[in-house]
Amino acid sequence: MTTTVSSALRRAQQRDAAHVLPTYGRKPLAFARGEGTALFDHDGRPYLDFLCGLAVTNLGHSHPAVAAAVAAQARTLVHTSNLYLTDPMLDLAERLARIVGWEDGRTFFAQCGATANEAALKLARRHGKRQDPAKVRVVTLSGSFHGRTLATLEATGQPEKHAPFAPLPGVVDTVPFDDAGALADAVTDRTCAVLLEIVQGEGGVRPVPDDVLLAAREACDRHGALLIADEVQTGMGRTGSWFAFQDSPVVPDVVTVAKALANGLPIGACIAHGVAAGAFAPGDHATTFGGNPVTAAAANAVIDALTDGDLLARARTVGARLTAEMEAGIGELPFVAGVRGRGLLLGIELDEPVAADLEDACRERYLLVNAVAPDVLRLAPPLTVQDQEVDLALSALAAALRDVAEARR
Ligand SMILES: *Cc1c(COP(=O)(O)O)cnc(C)c1O
Repeated sequence: MTTTVSSALRRAQQRDAAHVLPTYGRKPLAFARGEGTALFDHDGRPYLDFLCGLAVTNLGHSHPAVAAAVAAQARTLVHTSNLYLTDPMLDLAERLARIVGWEDGRTFFAQCGATANEAALKLARRHGKRQDPAKVRVVTLSGSFHGRTLATLEATGQPEKHAPFAPLPGVVDTVPFDDAGALADAVTDRTCAVLLEIVQGEGGVRPVPDDVLLAAREACDRHGALLIADEVQTGMGRTGSWFAFQDSPVVPDVVTVAKALANGLPIGACIAHGVAAGAFAPGDHATTFGGNPVTAAAANAVIDALTDGDLLARARTVGARLTAEMEAGIGELPFVAGVRGRGLLLGIELDEPVAADLEDACRERYLLVNAVAPDVLRLAPPLTVQDQEVDLALSALAAALRDVAEARR
């Protein structure tokens, strides 16, 4: 008996509704398999994945070297807890120190972006409280996204996400993302950290202005606070460097990374250097699965593949091409008003709030992208994307823009 795609999807939707807590607004698609830039539905129909599971599968789906590393490690040793040392974790800690560029870099391993940021916030609090018991406040930027735990939710500068869970801890001050003066004023002797993204991801692919980054660095130095760069979305080559701060005018004290670190396996890392690397003592923080050998082996394979394939340069080249072609479409293609972002984390600015309709129209043309703001469409293809796949995506996008314009006529 053959199963039609719509009945396979309907069945999946029914099972989801029955037994999965309804925290997600899902798209009408279910996938069975992925390879490179393509995701295949249950009927074997390929979609061009220009979203990468939210900037996670930077090497594309089912990358052979990552798959081999995971399989080999799963047959060798899966888990020991952090009571004991394992080589994949140590190899990864050394590799992270190398790519972040800090000889004295030291890592705490977590499970995801939120738990990496949670570790960074607790590290900053330990650092702050050594100076003054009241030095526990955190400054963040409006439009930021730092995760969904209670602490990282409060640090997320999107008040509509706070309301259902209020009261929150009450230690965060949020300032406008482009106001260097407001940021400098918000940092006081009670501040233990400024937490920010170099390019805001969920906030609409918005690069934070250099003067704000410089003000944050200066204010942290003046008040003995830590500058934490949340590179959960931007890290691991997405923006064309290992970390986005490496193309910025500032060096943070702490960097967090997660999404693309193991190309789809759950892992997070909080990397500190200098004075920040001395803030935690044994017993201060812990997690059972952190530094798990299988996820660490995957991350080691990811770093090798990004290096061997010269994929950071590829992110810059393909990002420049996508930007140029979309900018050439301004005035030609409906709605297109501009392009922003870095490397292969791009936001197409639209002159009307049609991003959700455009996302749907792209999906109908087998291209996966997402509406990251009402008037911004996010593109985050794999760094391994082929030139012909970029051609296909650009023509699907142009057609989808015309579909949306047509539907509104
Ligand atoms: C996705 C994201 C997070 C949260 O990561 P999770 O793995 O979903 O917990 C935190 N910060 C940024 C910048 C992100 O993009």
